[in-house]
Amino acid sequence: MKACDKELIFNLLKNASAHFNGYTKDVYKSEHKFIDDEENQSVSQNEFAKPEQNVVANSEQSTIKPPIESQTQVQAQSQNEGLEQNQIKTPEAESFAHTSKTTLEEIASKIARCTRCTLARTRNNVVPGMGVENPDVLVIGEGPGYDEDKQGLPFVGKAGILLDKMLAAIGLDRKSNCYIANIVKCRPPQNRDPYPQEQDACFSFLEAQINILKPKMILCMGKISSNKMLNQDAPIGTLRGQFFEYNGIPLMVTYHPSALLRNEELKRPAWDDLKKFKAKLDEINQK
Ligand code: URA
Repeated sequence: MKACDKELIFNLLKNASAHFNGYTKDVYKSEHKFIDDEENQSVSQNEFAKPEQNVVANSEQSTIKPPIESQTQVQAQSQNEGLEQNQIKTPEAESFAHTSKTTLEEIASKIARCTRCTLARTRNNVVPGMGVENPDVLVIGEGPGYDEDKQGLPFVGKAGILLDKMLAAIGLDRKSNCYIANIVKCRPPQNRDPYPQEQDACFSFLEAQINILKPKMILCMGKISSNKMLNQDAPIGTLRGQFFEYNGIPLMVTYHPSALLRNEELKRPAWDDLKKFKAKLDEINQK
């Protein structure tokens, strides 16, 4: 295949991915060098032809392996030789290379049209999220409940009132320095936990939001959001109060406000978590 065809396919995939996910994934951002296949083959054949001493025998078959350093040389050489070929650019590749910067509003309008899972059938309103851009903190819950589904806003019911109090206790609020979002953007019927397939279907919206928001820290409320963000399946008790990272962003897990409403005894450990979280945020803000 020619380098220009490879580049064209790459740009098509980049564009399709950006369209589907709502943002350009990192893998498509770095510069890629494309080279013609003939170049690859002639370089590799030359290299593979040489070393008889690298014949590896086993009972079934013999294979010839290049030494490790020559594998690296093959890659380096073929990349260098590809540089001239890479100058060829088709008009299509040029136009695909310019993907417009996605905004939070664009993501919200994609969410509003979303039918990726069955929650779309029962929702009254989607709940994309609310708050400021470039927030100190992104707070992540699990999914909208009754009140949120009615208003299209996150954490506006009883749990939301408590969440606002918890945030206020460490100098945070959704109007000045936080953004509040959920793992799923539509209400699960009867407020059940969102199923893994529903979380998977919705996750690229949150990824796209994080990519735009660039929060300094993330606070996960409860088991569902923390396990999804950390790609784990662990009890909340083993995750809470600890720092993790999500794509280089410090992330802490604490109890969901609904859990605190059900069990008063969790308020104390949740407060300990929040103090620890605030100390880390102060440290980041002082840098
Ligand atoms: N619980 C959540 O996890 N999210 C909301 O938006 C409301 C309640």
